[in-house]
Amino acid sequence: MKQRISRRDFLKTTAFASLAIGNLALNDNLIWSINNRSRNNETITENAVQYNETRFSACTICVQFCPIKVRIPSDKSMPIIVEHNPAPGAEKYFAACGRPRVLFEMPNHPDRIRTPLIREGGRGDGKFRSTTWDEALDYVAENLKKYIDKPEQIAVFAHEGYEAGLIKEFFKGVIGTPNITDHADTCMAGNAQGKRFLFGTPIGPGGLYSDCLNACLIVLMGRDPISGMVSTPWAKSLSAGKGARIIAFDIKRPRIADLADEYILVAPGTDLAVVLAFMNVIINENLYNSNFLITYTNAPMLIYTDTMEPVKLSDHPIYSGKKTYLVYDRKDGKYKFKTDALDPQLEYSGEYEGRPVKTVFTLLKESVEKYTPKWAEEISGVPEEKIKEVARLLAAYAPQAFIPHGYKGARYRNEGMFYRVAGIVNALIGSYGAKGGIVWPRKASIPSPLTIMNVKTVKPSAKSIVEYWQKEGYPLALDGTASMLFIKSILEEKPYPIKAGIIYNQNLVSHIQGSSKAEEALKKLEFSVMFDVMWNETAPFVDVILPLPFFFEYTPPTLVQAAQTNIAQISLPMKVLDPPSGVDVRTPGQILYELARRLKPEVADSLKIIAENPEIIQRNQAEKLKIDFDELKTRGVVALYTEPLYKVPIPFATVTGEIELINIDMLSKFKDQLNKPSVVNPLPCWVPPYYMEDGKLGDDEFVAVDTFSPFITPNAFIRDSNLISQTMKWERMDGVYINYNRGVKLGLKDGDYVIIESLETGAKIRAKVYLSNEVHPHAITGIHGLNPGSYERGDVKFTYMTKTGINTNLLAPFKIVEYEGRAAQCDLKVRVRREVA
Ligand code: SF4
Repeated sequence: MKQRISRRDFLKTTAFASLAIGNLALNDNLIWSINNRSRNNETITENAVQYNETRFSACTICVQFCPIKVRIPSDKSMPIIVEHNPAPGAEKYFAACGRPRVLFEMPNHPDRIRTPLIREGGRGDGKFRSTTWDEALDYVAENLKKYIDKPEQIAVFAHEGYEAGLIKEFFKGVIGTPNITDHADTCMAGNAQGKRFLFGTPIGPGGLYSDCLNACLIVLMGRDPISGMVSTPWAKSLSAGKGARIIAFDIKRPRIADLADEYILVAPGTDLAVVLAFMNVIINENLYNSNFLITYTNAPMLIYTDTMEPVKLSDHPIYSGKKTYLVYDRKDGKYKFKTDALDPQLEYSGEYEGRPVKTVFTLLKESVEKYTPKWAEEISGVPEEKIKEVARLLAAYAPQAFIPHGYKGARYRNEGMFYRVAGIVNALIGSYGAKGGIVWPRKASIPSPLTIMNVKTVKPSAKSIVEYWQKEGYPLALDGTASMLFIKSILEEKPYPIKAGIIYNQNLVSHIQGSSKAEEALKKLEFSVMFDVMWNETAPFVDVILPLPFFFEYTPPTLVQAAQTNIAQISLPMKVLDPPSGVDVRTPGQILYELARRLKPEVADSLKIIAENPEIIQRNQAEKLKIDFDELKTRGVVALYTEPLYKVPIPFATVTGEIELINIDMLSKFKDQLNKPSVVNPLPCWVPPYYMEDGKLGDDEFVAVDTFSPFITPNAFIRDSNLISQTMKWERMDGVYINYNRGVKLGLKDGDYVIIESLETGAKIRAKVYLSNEVHPHAITGIHGLNPGSYERGDVKFTYMTKTGINTNLLAPFKIVEYEGRAAQCDLKVRVRREVA
């Protein structure tokens, strides 16, 4: 009998990993036509070129750090070919995406920064003069010397790249500034903060792993992984897996809809309503996993309901520093510490020593009683019956079912609560630690270059500004990742003035919610220096630009680990090509060594190695990880394990060491937030997104939601790739989408230009519009970062970048989410009108 194969199964069973999801659109014909090579009027194809050498490296275009191999043509004017370099044993978990296929364009890109530059004219004009490295380094050192005795006045913004860690370590440990940050507050902070409530410590995207390979049901919320930046581990595991059923909730048709069994449109910022209703169904219909809850969570913990405090805590007999707690033992009807009880009761209300008590589980049940599927339908637009069905399916497929751990959590005000409640749903069905559930990845600890070089470091004498803001309204702000709080400090001069800014591979103006405030802060600094490879929106405001090589043009002093790894995959980044002639760049290691010579000569000698022989450090790191360095050199990558860890690794950093469904520490800190629609209410609750607070959307009003794509990485140099820009056009991703009927009512048709105006700031952006029935009527959406607005100034140009998309940061107000100290970049209303020619 012939078997029928569905389109979805076909896609899954073909190696769609980085292909069917769209990256193949970055195709060879385009590469060759962009390279514009012809011989005797014939287009040259890959087959006509001899590739006689292969070199290894690790891609740093996004945070995944995939191992890659690069095929080098004998004719050096021909394009290099970049492919995934799978680690033996890890093939089923990973694939590199198509983005590094653009690397051939980059060495000679017209927007590459080719020499050190010093600003001429006013900040913001974007006018620079070219200079020598000696003059540039002397100038930077001379300016930084002013703050060497007050290093807290220096702020370091270091984002990605091989050496973000080294830059941070250098400025903190050698120069002594406590003020180091990257971009988590505008990216994953809401997710990390939500998971802090369950596990006692923030957990970023790489801290938990969705075991798609063995899953039976994946309910995607808050993320379309295949449209995401780090799409390939997901895609590869799905393609190699058993064909999990996929149900996707999104504000638009997600790219994963090709593979999903169904997708469901949901109003922007209302995923939280849906997961609260899942909790309601799973608890009320007794669909939870009692055994998991009793073994690994504090669900049976007794709480005094008059004071909302644990009834009794005692030192844990096994886990030092942890506490066990009083429960009701159903076996004999007595109150006991959990470690002594035979059958702790989950649902219980009673009295203990004359005071009312309830279990954590009972309090959870009561807290979600009002969040019925009907209630959630009114808020989210998702039909009541669909919510019930998905909740039941989650329980039926458990533990091989989950709402993924997720990624970006800085779109809406309620994102921390959403990720917390999604985590509680996963715990209720017992998917944590299970094969096919959410598991803990294996990570290797790579010793830092400064440790290996034995560089004498100092401890910053001043407290960081984040510590200040944690006491002043943002207690959950993540250490070292609060870039918006840094901007606030610069503008308000609290707790002390910040005078100098070091910006490494970070595009502050484009990346900060409320770009005009970032611009203002940069103008206020006495001195700023930017290390980068290409122009970006931040460049017009800095005093000095130090040009870096592209990651494939030098060997860094460090091994790298794939960020989303579940099996500790270690790559050896190596130089693949020399920078072309006329490009005068230096590696971060060389720059730091030169700065040390000028600012801290006493440590310069010990830093010399990162400038002159970084491979020695890589070799030393490999030895510490017990990896044969010579073998690593011949292969480029090694996976230290072949399987993720399938167990719940207690104790966690919570008071009890367990997964806390009501976090005891947060319960005592935020008791005053109980019964309020607050992001830090210790109990799960509905928190409306900001945009819902001022009533309904008007006829021409939308919520501006930017999303991601497997083609670009926001703010990174590949935004300005010719190949990417052409691909975005082909794929109709060079504009914004709105719901067809709403567009027609506004008199719009496909390809029209619109002006999108922020209702809060009045900022405007011009975009191309497409109409689609597969977008929620409340949303206007496009790929993040494809519009520099008015930041193309002076010498600062983006030759190929799409300029007709959206960057919500340019429209949004500089608003920091209460308590959490992060962004809510898509939680804003905009007005849309047709551009009048
Ligand atoms: S997923 Fe990220 S690191 Fe991996 S190949 Fe693509 S852009 Fe590079």
